[in-house]
Amino acid sequence: METEYIKLDRQNPDRDMLKRAAQLLRQGEVVAFPTETVYGLGANALEGSAVKKIFIAKGRPSDNPLIVHISSLNQLPPLVKEIPQAARALMKKYWPGPLTLIFPKSEIIPPEITAGLETVAIRMPEHPVAQALIEYAGVPVAAPSANISGKPSPTSGQHVWQDMQGKVAMVLDSGETRVGVESTVLDITRKPPMILRPGGITYEDLQETLGQVELDQGTGKMKVPRSPGMKYTHYSPAADVFVVTRGPQSFPGKFEKAYRSLSGEGKKVAVLISEETAQQMGDRIHPHYREVLGSRHDLREVAHRLFSAFRNADHQGADIILIEEFSEEGMGAAVMNRMIKAAGNKVIN
Ligand code: AMP
Ligand code: MG
Repeated sequence: METEYIKLDRQNPDRDMLKRAAQLLRQGEVVAFPTETVYGLGANALEGSAVKKIFIAKGRPSDNPLIVHISSLNQLPPLVKEIPQAARALMKKYWPGPLTLIFPKSEIIPPEITAGLETVAIRMPEHPVAQALIEYAGVPVAAPSANISGKPSPTSGQHVWQDMQGKVAMVLDSGETRVGVESTVLDITRKPPMILRPGGITYEDLQETLGQVELDQGTGKMKVPRSPGMKYTHYSPAADVFVVTRGPQSFPGKFEKAYRSLSGEGKKVAVLISEETAQQMGDRIHPHYREVLGSRHDLREVAHRLFSAFRNADHQGADIILIEEFSEEGMGAAVMNRMIKAAGNKVIN
């Protein structure tokens, strides 16, 4: 398949191009588009045969359900059986934005989307291109991240091109995404509501709005998660990822030691570190590739850069990626969740 690659200004996108992309969606084709979290791979959510094409393009297991994206609140009622009370305050505060809510599904949701579940995940993205595309399409748009299944999610149009060239009808490129990790997935059919995947809206934010919110233990280390997708290997670069945890020892010393022992075996080691660690280590180590993710105290910046840093390290031909542990506060919960999954739980204690 020939894939059209279209650059669109984020704030003032070419309306004719957007209408063409929307028409492709209505014709049952797959179009990749930017959102504020990561790039999505979109198809008409009401047409099972269109949705199937997403799974084929990504190589995604069919038991991993998709998020349905809407551009206005009017689109919600037909998709769900009911709107739980807890959802209303959240929608008011965080939509449009990086929060996905789980609702009991209505009959019009095709089974391909929910992988047979009785619930459906819905979100209203805030990115102007995503909003206009959904609006012009006139249908809700099912969209997982626009990467090959298992790879790091794409945070730029170029990342999407690397993975989806020849596999989808069109790629819309509006530059880097703002958040850089996926949306928070919150199950509001339970009391108290439960975070199934940490993401762009933090646990602390949700607690403030809801009073009480639980965190699925599966979002942490190794246990079986309730969100079907979280059980798969995810976000993984080609290189082997190891997370160097913080402990009572001097951190740069511990990181350097891990680096020396891995690079000593003749491996090309990429290091992904905080500004603070970079400063403390100076030029005591000379890794194959090195990227500074941001300050330990600016976890939004770290989230913004994480997936692109994984891809950069792969691009440089690294065999191993050694990455520093960050705090799990605020956006750090999403950062550490993705990092641990990318590492397949390989941590250096
Ligand atoms: P992705 O679109 O690739 O970022 O993944 C969407 C995430 O939402 C996956 O982890 C899915 O398992 C999760 N998800 C989608 N629908 C549901 C649902 N009905 N119940 C629980 N989790 C869901
Ligand atoms: Mg994904």
